[in-house]
Amino acid sequence: MLNVILLGPPGAGKGTQAKTLSERTDLAHVASGDLFRAALREGTELGMLAKSYMDRGELVPDEVVIRMILERIQRPDCANGVIFDGFPRTRDQATALEAALVDKHQSKIAAVLYLDVPQDVLLRRIAGRQTCKTCGATYNIYYFPSHRPGICDACGGKLYQRSDDSIETAQHRLDVYFEQTMPLIEHYRLQGCLHEVDGRREISLVTEAMLIALSLNGTAK
Ligand code: ADP
Ligand code: ADP
Ligand code: ZN
Repeated sequence: MLNVILLGPPGAGKGTQAKTLSERTDLAHVASGDLFRAALREGTELGMLAKSYMDRGELVPDEVVIRMILERIQRPDCANGVIFDGFPRTRDQATALEAALVDKHQSKIAAVLYLDVPQDVLLRRIAGRQTCKTCGATYNIYYFPSHRPGICDACGGKLYQRSDDSIETAQHRLDVYFEQTMPLIEHYRLQGCLHEVDGRREISLVTEAMLIALSLNGTAK
């Protein structure tokens, strides 16, 4: 059982890396933002509640996120371990996760991979992000455009721009990140499980650096 957290600002590449890492290992990809967007597509109360915060670039209240994630990691696909993408984002979320893992006699957090990317690059990545409505694949109009504009290479689905990726909301999300999530870097550094990964590099190089940090570079698919 290996639990890994991907920590980093919006646009750092957490989702991109988590998807590949999960395909190349037997770890489940658990992304809080994706779970909220799925809930919204299904029209659930959780989805509506989350949307009101997401649209403003604010964090969804801790108790809501925590409940959702603790439920999600009970599912059988999480038995070998989890790659957490976008969770925890506050100290209270981190504490709740640690307590839940102890309670369930599951292994602790094995590693926290902190993706470091400068702000100007982040804003460009966010502004260019396009996501597939059907399969969730992510493209970037500046760095990795799809072959046909607006159409997913993988499944032919429609690409859309997240409404919270507008420049104003993105800037606010970065401010929220600095204030509420950045303190977690120190929290995990003190626990001795923090690995810094230079997120400015090419996607495949970032993946390799992460596998090395997890000592999985010899065994990953
Ligand atoms: P996060 O989940 O941290 O918000 P994403 O994985 O969605 O970040 O990446 C944000 C955007 O940047 C996407 O459009 C993605 O295609 C692009 N991207 C991700 N990693 C890199 C990279 N190493 N170099 C350039 N662009 C990247
Ligand atoms: P990114 O990493 O690109 O900012 P996410 O998809 O992870 O985007 O998150 C989108 C939004 O979903 C956040 O701005 C926030 O409103 C909400 N959200 C996601 N994860 C959490 C979390 N752990 N705690 C609180 N809110 C969250
Ligand atoms: Zn697709």
